[in-house]
Amino acid sequence: CGIVGYIGFRQAKETILTGLKRLEYRGYDSAGIGIVTDEDVEVYKEKGKIAALERLIHGVEIKGTVGIGHTRWATHGVPNQTNAHPHQSYSGRYTIVHNGIIENYKELIETYIPNIKRESETDTEIIAHLVDHFSQKGLSTEEAFREVIGKLEGSFAIALIDGQDTSRLYAAKNKSPLLAGLGEGENIIASDATAMIHVTNTFKELKDGEYVVLDRENLVIKTLDGDVIEREVYSVDWDM
Ligand code: GLU
Repeated sequence: CGIVGYIGFRQAKETILTGLKRLEYRGYDSAGIGIVTDEDVEVYKEKGKIAALERLIHGVEIKGTVGIGHTRWATHGVPNQTNAHPHQSYSGRYTIVHNGIIENYKELIETYIPNIKRESETDTEIIAHLVDHFSQKGLSTEEAFREVIGKLEGSFAIALIDGQDTSRLYAAKNKSPLLAGLGEGENIIASDATAMIHVTNTFKELKDGEYVVLDRENLVIKTLDGDVIEREVYSVDWDM
């Protein structure tokens, strides 16, 4: 399983699919993408291989330079199209991909969103609803994201799009791999470096208990208290 998130100037669909293919070796049962187009955040997902997702979107015009992608290794809910990621929050505002397991998702439903109508059987969907819940309580998206990340128990690599401000992406990790890649006028995150080398060879490590906000120009890593973390970049030279 793996995730990719891209914001920049290239076509996000191709950039993300290339990354997801490089993550295939990690194993998966479904794949999906969420792309910011002029209309909306468009979600396409399918059970099976990335090739099946490509058949689904064959001939569909999906233009946009911001997006997220996912290969799923099902832990909560059978592998099918509904349970495939991305998932969206109840208002439709937030779109999310997630690798890992949220161990306390049932408690979080009971405490914060007891009346939620779930679309899928996944633990992941709850994360999107929770961010929506806290932003409707008056928090900014970044504050809501931070709030929710701080409440999650388990393992995760997460990427989030806010449909009301698509000029940035949010991501976080805990006990699941996630790495940031830095470009010029573009930034990217993914489960490993190979999924990003078509974009950049310059990376920043992300650690458990941190989150990152990326736009086209900046990639800022923060603690869950919101303090900025300075992290050195490193470059990898390899022949592809
Ligand atoms: N727990 C999530 C699910 O079952 C994510 C699985 C994964 O790591 O791909 O959908």
